Amino acid sequence: MRVTASRWLIPFLDLLADFLNQDLDRGGLMSDWFPNSWSSFLKKADRISGMVAHEFGGPNGKEKAAGVQLELLRLLQSLIEGKPDRDLYEALGLLVGLEKHIQLSPANKKAAQAAETDYTPLRMRPGRRFFKIHRTKWALESFPKVLDARGYLLSIMEAALTEGELSRLRQCRLDTCSKFFVAKDTKREFHDDSCKVTYFNKRHLAEKYHTKNRQRKRELAEAKNKK
Ligand SMILES: [Zn+2]
Repeated sequence: MRVTASRWLIPFLDLLADFLNQDLDRGGLMSDWFPNSWSSFLKKADRISGMVAHEFGGPNGKEKAAGVQLELLRLLQSLIEGKPDRDLYEALGLLVGLEKHIQLSPANKKAAQAAETDYTPLRMRPGRRFFKIHRTKWALESFPKVLDARGYLLSIMEAALTEGELSRLRQCRLDTCSKFFVAKDTKREFHDDSCKVTYFNKRHLAEKYHTKNRQRKRELAEAKNKK
């Protein structure tokens, strides 16, 4: 397993994957497809970003979420499996070009002293970077000016992109599943082991069918030759 400096991104990417897996664009017609996942998504969101949970859990939250989901899916299409074309360029431009606020915050006690404020520990999160000077440590934060649920989810994508971790966000290789997941292990291709088993069983059956077919043809040919 590859361990990188950006593992802190995984829970955020996980939230993004969970959001993309919601059945939002089908007008609730298939609401039992992923049972209870919307409420469990909101719970997860609440742990990571109260704002996302609040906005999507509020009135018309699901409709708002459906619009954001569609936008993110389109962006990802260009970013994950896209070709090096104009769509990719525009997707990158949107992500890195979001108008941003920049904020400097003390990230250790010495820095808090210098800034004459109280020290509160800061953890890694999208848009936050740390640097040190003269034993003071600082957090440099950039977050979208319009910080709503959409901006928040986009900032996760931007962080993954610029940290070189976007390739961890994948779609399950089993085409009847295609669920988004976060590959903690970079070799992972299936969202869970049951999909892996199904995929290889299907392939095995297909191979067996072809082998049988070839055998049948050979037998037929031999029978003809004997005549
Ligand atoms: Zn799957």
